[in-house]
Parts: sequence; structure tokens; C-alpha cells
Amino acid sequence: MDFLKPRYTPMSRRRRIYEGKAKVLYEGPEPGTLIQHFKDDATAFNAKKHQVIEGKGVLNNRISEYVFQHLNDIGVPTHFIRRLNMREQLIREVEIIPLEVVVRNVAAGSLSQRLGIEEGTQLPRSIIEFYYKNDALGDPMVSEEHVTAFGWATPQEIDDIMALAVRVNDFLSGLFLGVGIRLVDFKMECGRLWENDMMRIVVADEISPDSCRLWDIKSSEKLDKDRFRRDLGGLLEAYTEVAKRLGILSEGERPQGGGPVPVIDTGPMTVEEFYAFTDTRPDEEKWELIEGEPVLNAAPSDMHQWIVKNVVLALGIRERELNAPWAVLPGLGVRVSDKDRPEAARPQ
Ligand code: 5GP
Repeated sequence: MDFLKPRYTPMSRRRRIYEGKAKVLYEGPEPGTLIQHFKDDATAFNAKKHQVIEGKGVLNNRISEYVFQHLNDIGVPTHFIRRLNMREQLIREVEIIPLEVVVRNVAAGSLSQRLGIEEGTQLPRSIIEFYYKNDALGDPMVSEEHVTAFGWATPQEIDDIMALAVRVNDFLSGLFLGVGIRLVDFKMECGRLWENDMMRIVVADEISPDSCRLWDIKSSEKLDKDRFRRDLGGLLEAYTEVAKRLGILSEGERPQGGGPVPVIDTGPMTVEEFYAFTDTRPDEEKWELIEGEPVLNAAPSDMHQWIVKNVVLALGIRERELNAPWAVLPGLGVRVSDKDRPEAARPQ
């Protein structure tokens, strides 16, 4: 791996294309791509309520990656290309259709309020609704007539969006059911993806506990953003639970023997931020900074330690033969750039 050649431009030098309430979009490394950065900001009621919940962005990045990657795998087209680091993913640039597409399976939230249906009532069938994405107006609900009359999408595009919404709902319902979670409703967004002269509608934005209602099947406990909207607390714990049930959190982020390793980070980190962070971690944990992302090292294998021993021994002999002005010490961190501090043998 060439540590000196970052695969993407450091954050400070990137051009910011758009900043929303919970995400920032930066120019991507190639034309037609963008970098989607997940912030820790939680907002509700058209941003009248706001709080920074440390770690939320990291969890949403991972959960949304999981959902979008699986959608790609089953042939549902999305804007997602790959995750870059703890907070960011590489996406295709699309022309966002200014609609929030809400799919409901169970009555809750604004549907219950509007129609007086008790929360938790199973709906006779899944219902798709459109809301016009406009903060100043508070995202009002609109009909297909409004959508076509005002030119937000054509009738054919509405058909494509509804077909996608049904497929995403089927996939998500099954995915969550398998891990003991009821998909009550969710919001998705779509965009136009241009490839040469061809255009197709793809799923865009994010799908995470910020944009879904997820209830534990047994207890009906809320595992989504309603914990914030309704002042229930424990939002991070709920999102972590969703990620764990989906099997997303890697070993490094699961509770370990020496105490829980937090779902950290504020990534991308600089080497200075990384040092400040590792100062707070137990001595037995070995961390590296790779392209701005802190990575927890697994305990080395026997084979690894034999190789280290042999290399140090061989170089030690050469050092003595040459009466060299250097020595080789294994296991030291080497700062190779502002964003990289891998662990390596360092000549002294
Ligand atoms: P409701 O219309 O009941 O408030 O929301 C229906 C579903 O869409 C819920 O899962 C909710 O999280 C999601 N949703 C509606 N509007 C927004 C929005 O502006 N942002 C996000 N993240 N989710 C939304």
C-alpha cells in the first residue's frame, strides 16, 4: 500500500457542493462522483430542534452503506459506490428529484395525526406518499397531480419511483424482520442518473434509523430517530443496536475484553487529533491512522511475530556488520502524512 498517495483529497482542500442538516456533499475524486459526509447533527421539526449526538454520523454511514450495498447487489439501482471511511461514502452525482417518498406499513407519525389512526395499527396495504422537499414550507404532502403539474417528475418517472419504493420496502421489511425489527415506515429520495444520453432513476440520499421508523418486534421499543423527536433519549444506543443486529459493527467496534471500544471517531482525523484520541485509549490497544481513519489493530498472530523477529534479527546482523548509524525497532508508529500514521519498523 502506498501510504504517501492518498486515495482522496484531504477534507480541507475539497470543494463543498452542498451542506444539509445531517450531511455534507463534497466534490468527488472523479467527474460524476461526490463524497457524502455524515454529520452528528440531529434535527427535527424542520430544524427547530437540534442537537449534536457524537457518533450518530458514523453509525448512519455504516447502516446506510449496508442497505445501499445490498440494494445494489439485488439489482435495485442506487447512487452508492463504496464507503471511504467512518463518515464518508463515494456516491454517483445525481439530479435529486425534490420529493421525499414515504412508504408506510404501520400507522405512525404524521399519518396517525392526520387521519386519527392509532399508532401501531397495521395498514391494509403499504402506502406510498409524496412530500415536496422544501424546508421553508415544511415539506408539505403533495399528490401525483402536483408532482407532474409543477414538473418535479414526469408520469413515467413517478411510475419508476413507485416501483423502486415497493422494491426497497420489500427488501427492508425482510431485512429488518430477520433481525427482530418491524419496519413501520421510511423515507427515501430518488435522483436522475445520467449515463451518456441515457437517464435512469436511482435511490439516493441515505436510508438509516434517521429516515426509518424501526420498532423492536417483541418490546415495540423505538430504535430510530423518534427517540430524539420525542425526547426518549438513548438514540446512540438504539442505532448501535440496529447496527449490531445487522452484523455491521466490526470486531474493533464491538465490546472487547479490556472494556468497550466506543464507536468512535470524528474522522477523517489529522495525526494530531489521532494522538489526542489514542491518549484516551488503554495502553494495550494499538491504533493506526490510515487515510484519516483510526483503525484498531488485531492482536498479532504467531506467524506475524516470527516474521518480525526474523526481519529484526537479519537487519540487526547487517547493522553490526556495517557499524550502521541506524537501528531497526519494530512496532513504532511512523508519521507519513497528515492523515497517515501506520505502525511499521522505523530506522532510528
Ligand atoms: P412522518 O410523515 O410520519 O413524520 O414520517 C414518515 C417517515 O419518513 C418516518 O420514518 C420519518 O423518519 C421519515 N421522514 C419524513 N420526513 C423526513 C425528513 O425530512 N428527514 C428524514 N430523515 N426522515 C423523514
